[in-house]
Amino acid sequence: MTTAARRVFRYVNWTLRPDQDDDAPPLAYAFRCLTLRDDGTECDARSKTSTDPAEPQEWAFGHMREHPDHVSFAEVIERPWVMWRGGAV
Ligand SMILES: [Zn+2]
Repeated sequence: MTTAARRVFRYVNWTLRPDQDDDAPPLAYAFRCLTLRDDGTECDARSKTSTDPAEPQEWAFGHMREHPDHVSFAEVIERPWVMWRGGAV
């Protein structure tokens, strides 16, 4: 004979907010190339992610030196967020 397990869930409110605590991960930056190739697909080359926003910008200059017609980029910014548990519903 088996007995059905019973699980109790407690429902709480959660808030999502940017993590600005002292121990939060830093903002991180990357650049990716938006230039379209002849076949219409994006180049999509991408710099390394860095906490120094100047490094991906330097990568963009290097990428353009290798591919002189690749002049359109997007900056990808990684911002840490955290779930914050509030009181019971
Ligand atoms: Zn490119």
